[in-house]
Amino acid sequence: MHPMPRPRQRKATTKTLRTPAALVAAALVPAERLAALELVAARYAVSLTPDVTDLIHSDDPADPIARQFVPDPAELDGKPEERADPIGDDAHSPVEGIVHRYPDRVLLKLVHICPVYCRFCFRRETVGPGRRRSLSRAALDHALAYIRARPQIWEVILTGGDPLVLSPRRLSEVVSALGEIEHVKIARVHTRVPVVAPGRITAEAVRALMARGKATYVVLHTNHPRELGARARQACARIIDAGIPMLSQSVLLRGVNDDPETLAALMRSLVENRIKPYYLHHGDLAPGTGHMRTTIPEGQALVRALHGRLSGLCQPAYVLDIPGGHGKSPIGPTYLGRIASAGDEPRFEIEDFNGGHHLYPPVAARR
Ligand code: SF4
Repeated sequence: MHPMPRPRQRKATTKTLRTPAALVAAALVPAERLAALELVAARYAVSLTPDVTDLIHSDDPADPIARQFVPDPAELDGKPEERADPIGDDAHSPVEGIVHRYPDRVLLKLVHICPVYCRFCFRRETVGPGRRRSLSRAALDHALAYIRARPQIWEVILTGGDPLVLSPRRLSEVVSALGEIEHVKIARVHTRVPVVAPGRITAEAVRALMARGKATYVVLHTNHPRELGARARQACARIIDAGIPMLSQSVLLRGVNDDPETLAALMRSLVENRIKPYYLHHGDLAPGTGHMRTTIPEGQALVRALHGRLSGLCQPAYVLDIPGGHGKSPIGPTYLGRIASAGDEPRFEIEDFNGGHHLYPPVAARR
């Protein structure tokens, strides 16, 4: 079990930390780890915003916030099953910036950078400061033309990188262009910014997310209840108060949220802040992330524990992005088993939230 939120006296940090030397200087890692972490940083980008740094309890060697953002030598231990493109975006990318995996929706990858770099990132081979920051004007025009030409595209998911690193002016241009496409009804924005850089959620940024006559949804990526501090909660309230519904997605991560108490506290905190838990992702097979992945049976046991103790409002769907680009599927746990047939009608055994087993339809009572 991981420690729940607790008050802490810490000098406010003002700079984004982008190198192991900066992490040592901020007393987040001991100097003797510098050389090992330099090797990791040469391979995968590092960035901790002041808001993230201030959430870290540096006296806790197992701090769940540090574990998500401070590099770890274990990242250099790749596993044979891991892949550079773990969810198969490339196989479904007809033009630059677009991933068209499901018929009625596309991803529009606007940027290749984030305010922070998560150690378990599923796009860690394609995001980072060494890449081109954002789609060029010509590539964006092509991507919009692709969407315009396909009336089956009902929803456009802005992702990246983190689209909320863009200026409100640039975001507004993109969202307005989508708003002018008759068949696009929904703009969905996937972001970690309200947690890791809440100061970016200004009134102007929120206005930039809205297009007349269309619905915008914001999906917050957050993994631990301590991430929802006062500033993050205020940023989310600014979005929701403007009329934009919020959902959440979390990644199940060993040493961060792989216990029922932490997951329950996270989901409850989200709902208390008017954010509906949407997805709990099983860790993707991104390179060098094996030390943070749970097994699927461990994940199912955790989700089963949530089912037994939390309101339905607090239940995300536990999903796996199938490697190779085959999309997301829910991965349980399952409660229903088929056991026999009663005449033409199948009969099932169903488990209740206390672990009791029942037949459905029930055996007819004797008269
Ligand atoms: S914010 Fe998302 S895209 Fe960016 S590093 Fe974290 S997981 Fe990857």
